[in-house]
Amino acid sequence: MSVLDRFLRYVQIDTRADDSPTACPSTSGQLVLQRMLAGELREIGLSDVTLDENGYLMATVPATVTRDTPTIGFIAHVDTSPEVSGEDVKPIVHRAWAGGDIVLPDDPTAILRAVDLPDLAAQVGHDIVTASGTTLLGADDKAGVAAIVAAAEYLMKHPEIPRGAIRIGFTPDEEIGRGANFFDVARFGAACAYTLDGGNAGELEFESFSADAMRVTFIGFNTHPGYAKGRMVNAVKAAARFIDRLPQDRLSPETTDGYEGYVHPYQVEASVDRTSVRVLLRDFVTSGLRDKQRLVEAVAREVAAATGTRVELHVDEQYRNMREVLDDHPDVVERARAAIRRAGLTPIEKPIRGGTDGSRLSFMGLPTPNLFAGEHNFHSRLEWTSRQDLERAVAVIVELAQVWAE
Ligand SMILES: [Zn+2]
Repeated sequence: MSVLDRFLRYVQIDTRADDSPTACPSTSGQLVLQRMLAGELREIGLSDVTLDENGYLMATVPATVTRDTPTIGFIAHVDTSPEVSGEDVKPIVHRAWAGGDIVLPDDPTAILRAVDLPDLAAQVGHDIVTASGTTLLGADDKAGVAAIVAAAEYLMKHPEIPRGAIRIGFTPDEEIGRGANFFDVARFGAACAYTLDGGNAGELEFESFSADAMRVTFIGFNTHPGYAKGRMVNAVKAAARFIDRLPQDRLSPETTDGYEGYVHPYQVEASVDRTSVRVLLRDFVTSGLRDKQRLVEAVAREVAAATGTRVELHVDEQYRNMREVLDDHPDVVERARAAIRRAGLTPIEKPIRGGTDGSRLSFMGLPTPNLFAGEHNFHSRLEWTSRQDLERAVAVIVELAQVWAE
């Protein structure tokens, strides 16, 4: 079956993640797809196909060389973003797209225009795949899933291609930040892995943010507002002053890009007695994260002193820049570059202004950069991919298997 046909099948299964349940996977649709994938992987002859109790699917493409070749892994996530509906996805293939507006039939206001989308404009003549206007497409990350399955099938049919053992991992709940939670790195048993969860053909990502989350809580004193003179201390006002004093024209998501980090207040839970502000800290350098934490603390303490509130500060580590691990394994990135070139593409390297499952897996002992899978307009009803992108992702996986066996 072609990679496009596989992709079109997978996107029709609703695997939208949901961050309210604590169960893993968070939604049953993900298991439906995982069971289907397990069946397909067995059918194409993979060994050790296991779907564990948390919904993680693993399998092995056996080695064709006997000499000592490292086992490498390929990973993709089966869930889709909770932000947009993934129910009843109707994929549409716009064959040999001529470059005109693509109007999505179920919502004529949903239009992909080449002038707005330079990445799309670069694919005139390709078979573009979109959803129908009311749902996301799910190329994030079923493009990655389809590319991995198709590459596995190709390798199984071509035992003459030298390769070491290849492990495949399909994970649940990446979109709600839990994809690495129950990933059994020891059982996976690979020296390194690649997530296939990126955009344009040729993209290779091996730097991500380092990330912490802070909770800044102002504690005031509540009393009946009619008789509050000289007694009430309003934590809501303290929090407002705190937020107002955080950097605005710098160190903010809306004013930074490239390698700049930020301090981002994004949620407030407010009452006179107690108001908590949640703040995200992001930096490509982990020590820079500490500077940002100190900045937030200094502003919070200053405001608490000025408003007569008490402040409590809490910091949770979220994830770390995978580069800190990958710098110790230069081969992992270098071989990906080589495979991309052999597939006839130019490596495009840029930092991820976020984290991937690979950020966490790298620190769990599995160095894992990210490769393109042809995902565009993530988490949107205008999401799209192309047959050509999917095929290029398959080609890079096949080349990587060979590069590691040399
Ligand atoms: Zn993704």
